[in-house]
Amino acid sequence: MKGDFKGIIKEMTLEEKASLCSGLDFWHTKCIKRLNVPSIMMADGPHGLRKQADETDHLGLNVSVPATCFPSGATLACSWDRSLLEKVGEALGEECQAQGVSILLGPAVNIKRSPLCGRNFEYFSEDPYLSSELAASHIKGVQSQGVGTSLKHFTANNQEHKRLIIDAKIDERTLREIYLSSFEGTVKQAKPWTVMCAYNKVNGKYCSENRYLLTDILREEWGYEGFVVSDWGAVNDRVDALISGLELEMPSSGGTGDRKIIDAVKKGVLSESVLDEAVERLLRIIFKAIDNKREGATYDEDVHHQLAREVARECMVLLKNEDEILPLKKEGTLAVIGSFAKYPRYQGGGSSHVNPTRVDSALGEIKKLAGANMGVLYADGYRLDGESGLFSGKAFSSNSDIVDETLIKEAKEIAQKADVAVVFAGLPESYESEAFDRRHIRIPEGHRQLIEEVAEVNKNIIVILSNGSPIEMPWLDRVKGVLEGYLGGQAFGGAVADLLFGIANPCGKLAETFPVKLSDNPSYLNFPGDGTKVEYKEGLFVGYRYYEAKKMETLFPFGYGLSYTSFDYTDIWIDRDSILDTEELTVNIKIKNTGSVTGKEIVQLYVKDIESSVVRPIKELKGFEKISLKPGEEKTVTFTLGKRAFAYYNEDIKDWYVEDGEFEILVGGSSRCTPLKAVVYISSTEKIKKIYTRNSTVEDIMASPKGQKILEEFIKDSPLGISDGQISSGMAEMIKGMPLRNIVMFSNGQFTDDMLNILLKELNQ
Ligand code: BGC
Repeated sequence: MKGDFKGIIKEMTLEEKASLCSGLDFWHTKCIKRLNVPSIMMADGPHGLRKQADETDHLGLNVSVPATCFPSGATLACSWDRSLLEKVGEALGEECQAQGVSILLGPAVNIKRSPLCGRNFEYFSEDPYLSSELAASHIKGVQSQGVGTSLKHFTANNQEHKRLIIDAKIDERTLREIYLSSFEGTVKQAKPWTVMCAYNKVNGKYCSENRYLLTDILREEWGYEGFVVSDWGAVNDRVDALISGLELEMPSSGGTGDRKIIDAVKKGVLSESVLDEAVERLLRIIFKAIDNKREGATYDEDVHHQLAREVARECMVLLKNEDEILPLKKEGTLAVIGSFAKYPRYQGGGSSHVNPTRVDSALGEIKKLAGANMGVLYADGYRLDGESGLFSGKAFSSNSDIVDETLIKEAKEIAQKADVAVVFAGLPESYESEAFDRRHIRIPEGHRQLIEEVAEVNKNIIVILSNGSPIEMPWLDRVKGVLEGYLGGQAFGGAVADLLFGIANPCGKLAETFPVKLSDNPSYLNFPGDGTKVEYKEGLFVGYRYYEAKKMETLFPFGYGLSYTSFDYTDIWIDRDSILDTEELTVNIKIKNTGSVTGKEIVQLYVKDIESSVVRPIKELKGFEKISLKPGEEKTVTFTLGKRAFAYYNEDIKDWYVEDGEFEILVGGSSRCTPLKAVVYISSTEKIKKIYTRNSTVEDIMASPKGQKILEEFIKDSPLGISDGQISSGMAEMIKGMPLRNIVMFSNGQFTDDMLNILLKELNQ
């Protein structure tokens, strides 16, 4: 409806307006029958639809209608494939249409600050550019089906510990360059219908009533036009929230929030025009949803299941493949070990938990593909009781830590008889979920011991991992192959079988760093904070930004992943050697498939500021493309880089700024391996006016030609010995760091306070 929203609002009573600003129940907005304002339904997300038909709750405890469970966010991110994410989004949109859901609550783009965060399995990456590019594609896909999304959790919901009250203390540059950037790119590119504010506080203010975030940045700077919905129960002060830019409180507050709004208007604390604007934003989306509803829509479960399988294959990351143990040859005897092979761990717990339309068992799919010449044996290896294949909500205490010697013995027996053993291991559901963080990054003792003991009797071990977040791998040297399956969705089992037998070639790459040990992680000393605050003291140095700067060994670096083929990065060229910051740079690279099978490579482009007056990460991801190459084939990949690829957030001018100078363009197959390099000189078109004070140092002044000239003039004959723009060498280091007021003190009256004031006046003109 190209509705006359203002007209409707004019007709509304104050009570009706307030009523639209909170939910009817857990999932619906309220209707106003008298004025034909309909109610719409929202449901979780992000990687499958969780529409609760009957009893509702937001922690995923009650079963929802069956829907396709696609790989979770952490898994999808490893595809680094924009069009794939869009396809998943389209499928999700179709399922929403079929179920009458107007807004899917996702995707979630919070940055993986620590591998411990319980919800990392839902989030995309430690890198904001990768995260925002993928989220934008996901949203475009869903919204292309006439279904809205809710980009969440805005912002800095980077831990589950005390998520409802924790205050994330983040300096402005870090907030802008890392945590907000993940949202900014998504909002600007994909225009989500709604944005969901986070539970936590950022720098002292709850996100739900944080005007700086919700209005100044989201709406005014980024031009956001949808509405902001609270995370479920995130509203602290309803009136402050409304004034700050939060339109919809979810779920229903039982009328409390609405009453507060009404009272505030009546008392004159809240201007009715603020309420009117909020209602207008709500109406726009509500009617957009209704206009786009496809009555009687259906979707094909088989097609979506097949898509889930293809998607999972594109995401899994081959971490190790010694002696080319993979792909498997369809001969001899294969031992399949680990209960996850029968009952896969393929999704995370909490509000994103989907009731799948079906679930592939890896064992079953392996048997189907193995063929007549291969014998397949199976052993459980560890217990899964106390865990549930389908999230039961009661699985938080489990028997996963119990080492079952009998099961391990059985596993060793079949491994001994086999040519190759594939061990399924990882994190059971009780280890990671919404609502709590992990305490360590180990897999259960029973899984570790199983791998190590099986490796004693068979040298050809391949480990298939199911986990939503990085783990330690003390057994890595004892196995020949590792396939990181993450949480691969309902078709996880089929996708693993396809990759094991080479029906598909692994082509995922890590969207986060796997540290050798937890304490290597930059947030380690400040996670999850103390009391009710957490300080982001590592600043910009999140994930690979830290490991690269520290030249630290990692278990697997950001961007890493193997293939059954190999690639050579052969050439790089840029269209110009120097540009203005307002211009774009074109970067071309050549890449060749040097192996014997078709494969996909994720080409990654990083930018490094060679010299900078501010602290900057060593390299930052600014471009990526996934390309398919046949054996021997060579292709050119082109990237276009704009100002933001070179800029940092300058707190003085409150904007993105590129400093004059040389930048390296580094291209390769992971954050650690960038064999191609080009250098471009960028000139800034924005000159930042410096304000000099009594506390500006001699070095600050000498840095500008004007300052140098004036200062030299003033104190040329002083014993401090400044001549020809040079400070006499002996004194140089000492003087450089002196504030101007010290020159007054040390110049024996030759340089007076009055002179200093005149100097400052001239400098600041
Ligand atoms: C989660 C959101 C979710 C909402 C509704 C909250 O607890 O943080 O991500 O969309 O519940 O289920």
